[in-house]
Amino acid sequence: MAEKICVAVRVRPSISEESPSGTFWKIEDNRISLHKLHGTPISGLSYAFDHVFDESCSNSKVYELLTKDVIHAAVDGFNGTAFAYGQTSSGKTYTMNGSLNDPGIIHRAVNDVFQKIQMISDREFLIRVSYMEIYNEEINDLFTVENQKLPIHESLERGIFVAGLREEIVNNAEQVIKLLESGEVNRHFGETNMNARSSRSHTIFRMVIESKGIDTGSGDYSSSDAIRVSILNLVDLAGSERIAKTGAGGVRLKEGKYINKSLMVLGNVINKLSNGAKQRVHIPYRDSKLTRILQTALGGNAKTSIICTVAPEEVHVEETKGTLQFASRAKRITNCAQVNEILTDAALLKRQQLEIEDLRRKLQGSRSEVMEQEILKLRNDMLKYELEREKLEMELEEERRSHKEREQRIRDQQLKIENLSSLVSDGDRSSSQDSMKESLKDECNDFKTPCFKETSNNAFVAKRSNYSELPDFSPLPDSFSNVADEDTWFKMNKGYIADLDALQTTPARKVQSFPPQDITPDCSNDNYKLELQNLKTQLELVIKEKVELQRKHEEEVQINSRLMGEICELKQELDLSNNSSESSKQRYGNLETEFQKLKEERDSLLQTVSESSKNITFLTDQKENILKDLNCEVQRRKDLEVEIKQFSVAFASRQRSLASIHGEFKSKIEKLRAENLVRY
Ligand code: ADP
Ligand code: MG
Repeated sequence: MAEKICVAVRVRPSISEESPSGTFWKIEDNRISLHKLHGTPISGLSYAFDHVFDESCSNSKVYELLTKDVIHAAVDGFNGTAFAYGQTSSGKTYTMNGSLNDPGIIHRAVNDVFQKIQMISDREFLIRVSYMEIYNEEINDLFTVENQKLPIHESLERGIFVAGLREEIVNNAEQVIKLLESGEVNRHFGETNMNARSSRSHTIFRMVIESKGIDTGSGDYSSSDAIRVSILNLVDLAGSERIAKTGAGGVRLKEGKYINKSLMVLGNVINKLSNGAKQRVHIPYRDSKLTRILQTALGGNAKTSIICTVAPEEVHVEETKGTLQFASRAKRITNCAQVNEILTDAALLKRQQLEIEDLRRKLQGSRSEVMEQEILKLRNDMLKYELEREKLEMELEEERRSHKEREQRIRDQQLKIENLSSLVSDGDRSSSQDSMKESLKDECNDFKTPCFKETSNNAFVAKRSNYSELPDFSPLPDSFSNVADEDTWFKMNKGYIADLDALQTTPARKVQSFPPQDITPDCSNDNYKLELQNLKTQLELVIKEKVELQRKHEEEVQINSRLMGEICELKQELDLSNNSSESSKQRYGNLETEFQKLKEERDSLLQTVSESSKNITFLTDQKENILKDLNCEVQRRKDLEVEIKQFSVAFASRQRSLASIHGEFKSKIEKLRAENLVRY
């Protein structure tokens, strides 16, 4: 479905202490207009956008209202791009990177992507990130300082891509943030004037989100399943100011004027796109690296949002107007986004899936962190090998091509020398001036390449690539790559200059001049001798040239063989890496068997422990019962003791009473006896 690019303007807080003396920017809802200090709006300078954010607006609000939808759509399979455009110090980097208290769009997007993925349980995701900078029309990898001046390539499978750019597979937001931080460090590496660099370079943070439905049935991944691949670009553009026109103090600068080619071409592209697709004009995407990389984001299959940052100060009114005009044009662009589903092997997810699944199955549902780390490492290794292989293939291809070209050149040269030698010997033998003339004419033609018109030394041939149409606007020639006179540039643009990417150079060759008037049918013998002499010197020259060329060829062959050697070494290294990947797989297998063994051991230990604890419980119960019995016994003994005591007390008292009775009885008997004695 066709939809307009979402465009917002953000005004940063004022830095200057001075209050405005003539005009100021007023924001009402989604409109920004230039007003006279105590009066009316100035006509023609009022602009409306999807959103206009004032000084007090936070990054969080900008993200919620402008970018969030693009990010969510990217998780669902739509390409997405968010740009920050504006003059230097208007707040682009603040918007994209944010501050400690208020993280910018990039951090929020990264967190959001991972949060959203967590909530989607029926799809599996693979996320890769890369981070690059375009500085002086050269693409540098910010993840590794080694990857500088990377080329742009195009293939059926991958579309337009930066060859050799390092990509890192990530599985959480923290990893990405760390990578971004290391990228910033790389960017500062060896840089003396960071501010100048950051205001002149574009940075592109890119996330490639691949996803695939999880097969809940057999767990078998059929190869025909479509995979969604979406690319999310978050771009912090170079400062849009034209230092060219006026310096900070309003003085026209004398020095060479700075033109950022990519930014200028971006302006042209936006201009053409905003004129409407119906006019079917040629869009010069190929004229700059930035527009080439962002081609789909600008005019096609992508959801795009642009935040144009402006400075509120009065000194910046002109730049602010420029930015607002750019924003208005961008607002007119219509894109047509659709979910990218592919069935080819281009999706990394697909290529790695089987292997990963295999590993995962081996894990048997165990999600220990160490294993996850191992998987991530393996995934990244696999990706690295793929990138290296791709680079090697490219180098090899390039080498083959130049080798072929060199051989062809030498063959041509030899052919010409042979022609010339036979011509000279013919000339010696025959006196036929006509045939001589004809041959010379032919030879003259032979020296001319079809593309050379009247070629002079050091000329080059420019050829437009077959599929690019005639441009209305042309790229800046290399000699002007960064610093160019703007007026010259515009004058030049009226003419026709070839597409830089399609430019093919042919080495300059000397064209021999054989003016036909020199050779006339009635020329004298002297003339003929002179001519012969000429030809001989030319032949010597050509032979010298041939020797020189052969020497060069030998040198090149040497270089070639050295390069081949290097390539072989690299291949060996790659093999080694593959071996190491094999060995890590083996290690992984070993780890796994160990893990299994440990698991079994643990299980048997658990079994023993549970048996022992059962025994312990049983014994404890027994002990408790015995203790209870013992307590009862003790109690009974105590009771018995008490009883015995009581009994002995009772017995003693009984004894005493018996003794007293006995005494009484005895005394009574004594008494009776005495009485008896008395009676008798
Ligand atoms: P640019 O990247 O466009 O050159 P910066 O983002 O570096 O500009 O902003 C310039 C200065 O203004 C920085 O010190 C930044 O912290 C500050 N700044 C920009 N926008 C805001 C904002 N919305 N709120 C607070 N400070 C801001
Ligand atoms: Mg910046």
